[in-house]
Amino acid sequence: RELTVELGDRSYPIYIGQGILNQITEYFDRAKLSRKSPLLIVTDEEVAPLHLERVLTLLREGGYAVTACVVPAGETSKSLAQLEGIVSAALQAGLDRSSAIVALGGGVVGDLAGFAAASFMRGVRFVQIPTTILAHDSSVGGKVAVNHPMAKNIIGAFHQPEFVLFDIELLLTLPPRQVKAGLSEVIKHGLIWDAAFTQWCDDNAAKLLALDPEALSYALYIGCQVKAIVVSQDERENDLRAILNLGHTIGHALEAVAGYGELLHGEAIAIGMVGAAKLAQQFGYAEEIHEVTKGLFVKFGLPVQIPAHLDTDSIMSAMMHDKKFKEGTMVYIIPTEIGKVEIRKDVTEDQVRQIVELLKEES
Ligand code: NAD
Ligand code: ZN
Repeated sequence: RELTVELGDRSYPIYIGQGILNQITEYFDRAKLSRKSPLLIVTDEEVAPLHLERVLTLLREGGYAVTACVVPAGETSKSLAQLEGIVSAALQAGLDRSSAIVALGGGVVGDLAGFAAASFMRGVRFVQIPTTILAHDSSVGGKVAVNHPMAKNIIGAFHQPEFVLFDIELLLTLPPRQVKAGLSEVIKHGLIWDAAFTQWCDDNAAKLLALDPEALSYALYIGCQVKAIVVSQDERENDLRAILNLGHTIGHALEAVAGYGELLHGEAIAIGMVGAAKLAQQFGYAEEIHEVTKGLFVKFGLPVQIPAHLDTDSIMSAMMHDKKFKEGTMVYIIPTEIGKVEIRKDVTEDQVRQIVELLKEES
């Protein structure tokens, strides 16, 4: 399957399929990447032993000069320190303005390598080879960033890749918890945009969880497509792009309070999406939205309640810290029916606090 992210002269293709990594040099050739300039692959310590050798071999057999830079796995690698490491590797490998940096990994590697590509020599070309389901989201849209100890994704840029090569065979080594968390973001793309796809996810949960190739490539295709449509209409997040944040207001706060790692991003936003559905109920929208949303996440084995030990005040102050509130109200994405959301600007702190309380597990 193939689709295009339409962004004028920065448009780029996303290739999704089983075993397509074998044609990697053809995709590089199609993007007119140069065999004369060295390539740098960025990956992490968990992905490297599983998939790096194969990618290096395929590219070298195809005549590309390529070296790799391996960073530790996990969110802490989205740092200026790791960025410096990548720049050192790029300089040692002799990268020049016609070179490309290739991200082989999940969203962490994608964001880090992408920011390296955006800033090294004021910008070199960038290729994404996602290895997580969640990366169907992070690899589309061109947002790249590293974290500062005080704030996530605060040092970043917009830098679109040349193409995204999504071989679902690379996903077969994912731990089950990462599979579920990645599917949470796929489901989100249904909930904000496409009722029929939401129903399809519900019907095909077992297949998706078992990484059935046909079901998975279809789901990733639709997920990428929804993101691509939204991003093409609003690359810089002036308005529409905000709908992608469904579940993220509470989700980000939960990640921050729980500590990254205890709750995965996909898990935190599943809880957040159930919260948004509860809020929709309070604004008078159909009760069915909440039932369907919660039912879906339960079916996918994702959490739908806030762990009892996370304190409501801390969650609320994490949202404040995120500068979500402006004069007592905040912008909030709430579902108005399955497959549709609205951007509300009148949600009050009290309303959000009430939702957080409602989401709490009985302790
Ligand atoms: P991740 O990159 O940390 O990957 C999760 C874990 O799975 C890691 O431990 C990794 O080593 C391991 N892993 C990756 N691929 C594997 C494979 N094929 N087999 C076995 N293990 C594998 O996390 P993620 O969930 O992919 O991405 C989260 C990041 O994405 C966050 O930093 C978030 O901010 C970012 N993100 C960015 C955007 C964007 O628009 N740029 C959007 C959403 C999320
Ligand atoms: Zn997200």
